[in-house]
Order: sequence, then structure tokens, then C-alpha cells
Amino acid sequence: MELQRRFPTNFDETPFLVIWETTRACALACVHCRADAIPCRDPQELTTAEGFALIDQVRGLGTPPPLFVLTGGDPMRRPDLAALVRHAADAGLTVALTPSGTAAATHARLAELKDAGLSRIAVSLDGPTPEAHDAFRRVRGSHMWTMRIIESAIALDLPLQINTTISRLTLPYLHQMADRMAGMPVTLWAVFFLIQTGRGAALDQISAAECEEVLSFLYDLSLTAPFGIKTTEAPHYQRVVQQRERQREAAGLPSLAVERRRQLRATRSVGDGNGFVFVDHVGHVCPSGFLPMPRGNVRHDRLADIYRHDDVFRTLRSPDALGGACGACEFRHTCGGSRSRAFAATGDALAADPLCAYRPAGYDAPVTASAAPATDRRVIPLQPAG
Ligand code: SF4
Repeated sequence: MELQRRFPTNFDETPFLVIWETTRACALACVHCRADAIPCRDPQELTTAEGFALIDQVRGLGTPPPLFVLTGGDPMRRPDLAALVRHAADAGLTVALTPSGTAAATHARLAELKDAGLSRIAVSLDGPTPEAHDAFRRVRGSHMWTMRIIESAIALDLPLQINTTISRLTLPYLHQMADRMAGMPVTLWAVFFLIQTGRGAALDQISAAECEEVLSFLYDLSLTAPFGIKTTEAPHYQRVVQQRERQREAAGLPSLAVERRRQLRATRSVGDGNGFVFVDHVGHVCPSGFLPMPRGNVRHDRLADIYRHDDVFRTLRSPDALGGACGACEFRHTCGGSRSRAFAATGDALAADPLCAYRPAGYDAPVTASAAPATDRRVIPLQPAG
């Protein structure tokens, strides 16, 4: 059973999650797209042989190995996808896939991927109705294709993860979306908090106060939901969980959420070079898909060396290098804020996460720039790579 597998806990050595952007080709033009996905495959994409070599490098990161996610673009656009999944599964990796909601993800192809060893499928569902979802995805019919993927996953008994983006456009649907999750055999609801970069730069962000309400709602839901809940780019969910757990403890109630989360996921935040590494379609290694800072390329560099020893990666794993409210925060070791959002908002990846409403005791400075020593700040490029 997939969820009984162990995953890494020492993030200085081994990431929890490796994401490979197998291609940027995608038929959709989603309004929040990080990658500015393109209609056709880039001839410079990693080849099948290079993909196999990357997979071997991922397996070599440690034991237990990271969770390995094949994403895009739309990974279904790669004809060698089943071979890549088989190579990864045979190497002992837990392999997840994030197909786009298009006609490319047929039942036959998903069955082929399951036979090849796929462990989980993650599908984006951003609205409770076809109209709401398609407006976000900008393709009429995307909801229908997404539901077909979900139905196929259920029929194939493939563990199902649903990804939902929170922005001002989708916030009104949060409760309805939670009801939708309860009506499906979902393993994990992954709630993604918008980063205003790529096409997502044109979308309206929710406020920090609204984010706090969403995180509190997710905590309440986690106490009874038959599925796991995780946040993406909102690591302060870890802080909210800890605060709410203390309240339960003070009231003499058991720590249900912590125990449930322990079974399902890492009990600290995972993201932005800290438990997380992103390999783009041409092999660049970045701390995240939202932090466009290539620190090497798997075509000629070792993934393990970059993740463990590169200055940017090491600094992103240093809570004491953080600035602003995050640098002063007692939760910085388990949360640390979204470095991607700090970078998108301020150009400084070590600044405070502007989507967090928490103010550490005695901290009242405005959230603008990093307070990290200049020696630490210098290794974080201020501009996205071209
Ligand atoms: S201030 Fe920063 S480290 Fe503290 S809870 Fe908020 S995002 Fe996390």
C-alpha cells in the first residue's frame, strides 16, 4: 500500500519530493500556469535515455528514496511515459503523475501506466462545477476530461490525489470543493496557494487574513475527513496545525490531526529546496518550479551534489537566514514560509511570506526585505534566470 512506504526525513541529505517537468507541451492554457506551457514539445527536452539516467540519480539520493512526481506541461504528451514509469518503479521509486485534464489521458494509457508501476495520479480540479473549472483552465471541456481521468483512476484502483488552486477566483468555492472531495475516494487533497508568477501573475491573490481562515478550515476538516490534506506553497499550515493542536491539548482533547498527518505526509513543511527539488524539461535543477534559479543541469551535474551542497539550496534550508517576520518567527524551523512567494513578491527569496498573517511576539516591522546577513543573501540571485 503506497501510503505505508517510508519517505526521507533528513532534508539536508535527501529531498522528500523530486518533481520532473517531463515536457512543457500542454493543450491547456490555465490562468495560474507557472510554466507558460506551450503547444508543442521542445526538441531540447531530456531524451528517454537522459530520463532513465535522471531516475537513477533520484534513486541514488538515499534510502528511503524521495517520492518521484512526473509533471509538465502535460506528461501524457511524452510517448515514452510508460517506459519512464516502469524504469522508476523497477528502481524502487514511488511514482506519481500529474496529467492535464485533456483527451490525451485515455483510460487505456492510464491502465498501461498502472501496469508499468504508477503509484498515484494527481489531477487538478479547481471548481465544483464544469463552468467554474473550465473558466480557470481556459478550455471548455477540461472539466469533462478531468472527470474522465478521475473515473479511470477509480476504476483502475489507482490512489487519487486532487489538486485545487486557491486564488480570489476560486476562494468562493472552497466549501463546495471540500464537499466534492468527500464524495470521491480521494487519498489526498492538495490545496495549492497561488504564486503570482508566470500566467498566475495576472490572477488576484487572497489576503493573508483569508489565507488564515482557509488554513483553519482545512485543519478542522482534517479532523474528520477520510482523506489526507496537504498544502502547497502555504507552509504556515504547519504553524496553524501546531497552534490548533496546542489548543486541543489544553482542552484535554487528543492530537488527532498530528497522528493522521504522520501517517500520510511529512510533519514539517516541504518546499523550495528544503525537502523539494525541481528538474525542468531541459534538465535544469531548481529549488522549485516557482523559483527560476537553475543551480546546475542533470545533463552534466550530479543531482545529489546540487541538492546537498549548492549554496542556494543550503541557504534555503537555513531558517536562521530568513528575514522579516519569518526570520523572527518561532515556527521558522517547521514552516519557514514560501520562499517562492517571497521571491515573486519582493525579489528576495529570503524575505517574509506575505501570505502569512502571523506576527511573532515583539515583531512589528513591515514585511519587505530579508534581514539575513549579506553573505547569505548574496547567494540568492535577485532576478529570475533567463
Ligand atoms: S511568519 Fe513565516 S515562519 Fe512564521 S508562520 Fe508565518 S510564514 Fe511561517
